[in-house]
Amino acid sequence: MIDKFNRKITYARISLTEKCNLKCKYCMPKGFCAKNSNELSDEQIKNIIKALLDLGINKIRFTGGEPLMRKNVIELLNEVCSLAPIEWAITTNGTTLKHDAVALKKAGIKHINISLDTLDSQDYKTLTGSDLKNALNGLYAALDAGFDTIRINAVLIKGISEKQIENLAKITLKHNIDVRFIELMPIGQCAEYSENHLLKANAVLDILKDLKIGVQDAHAPAKYYKFDGAKGRVGLITPMSCNFCSECNRIRITADGKLKPCLHSDIEINLCDFLHNEDLLKKRIQEAVNIKPERHYLNENQFIIRNMSQIGG
Ligand code: SAM
Ligand code: SF4
Repeated sequence: MIDKFNRKITYARISLTEKCNLKCKYCMPKGFCAKNSNELSDEQIKNIIKALLDLGINKIRFTGGEPLMRKNVIELLNEVCSLAPIEWAITTNGTTLKHDAVALKKAGIKHINISLDTLDSQDYKTLTGSDLKNALNGLYAALDAGFDTIRINAVLIKGISEKQIENLAKITLKHNIDVRFIELMPIGQCAEYSENHLLKANAVLDILKDLKIGVQDAHAPAKYYKFDGAKGRVGLITPMSCNFCSECNRIRITADGKLKPCLHSDIEINLCDFLHNEDLLKKRIQEAVNIKPERHYLNENQFIIRNMSQIGG
């Protein structure tokens, strides 16, 4: 699929659920309660994936909420990953990977992103409401399971990240893991938290003076750096200080069956009425791609209504 601005769309992010076992302050508003009733069924997700594959999508990332909180998620992934030999990936908070990592790898997931903002257990607890030990055990289990790539995503939070940037980046010295620092984006009901805690990615380069420019990936939003002799890379994702819209190759499907052609726009195309007709579904997806906005307007006070936990990052 090619959009109006000549961008080739090859990557879909599919949210499997809005439910999550954590409550990250920048993502999940206080008191938010995910609605089970709107969640797409396994059959509906399979139909969407088949249509996306026919339309030339060659990378699918599962996200959420917390994707591993979906009921029978491993069975679903076993089925869908066997549909085609594409790049199957997942983004998770890692807290259940101690139990799920091997099964995910067996199902066909090749790439795993684990969200981990700090290695300080008190700050982790304050930020997420959960126990750092679970995430760390999950990370070790992912390393043992042998995924093709493992990345750590750490959002940059003023007042918390400054003292953690070095500790997190040092993980790349010993492990073949990319540690990516992401600027907080003001989204949904947590927008105020993100605005008040915005720490620009330059802070990482100010702290890590020994980093050298590393090998870049095509279409990746991250700019990569490396320490001499390190096994992994340090990445910076800068949606606030510099956008990568002209390179964007992705669309998003929410857990309630809406296609979002852009993360930072409230445009949504409802796929739910078309899920039983393959041709109409494909036509609807193509229509959605045709109205993908040229760029985002986050720096011009654009306000996104959905919470990040209802989009999937
Ligand atoms: N629960 C999974 C996890 O945490 O990895 C998947 C869903 S989560 C919404 C996906 C990614 O979005 C996470 O890496 C998270 O840190 C990031 N995220 C959430 N809210 C954000 C925000 N306001 N700005 C930037 N990234 C955010
Ligand atoms: Fe849950 Fe992920 Fe959002 Fe944290 S970032 S609340 S783990 S969906």
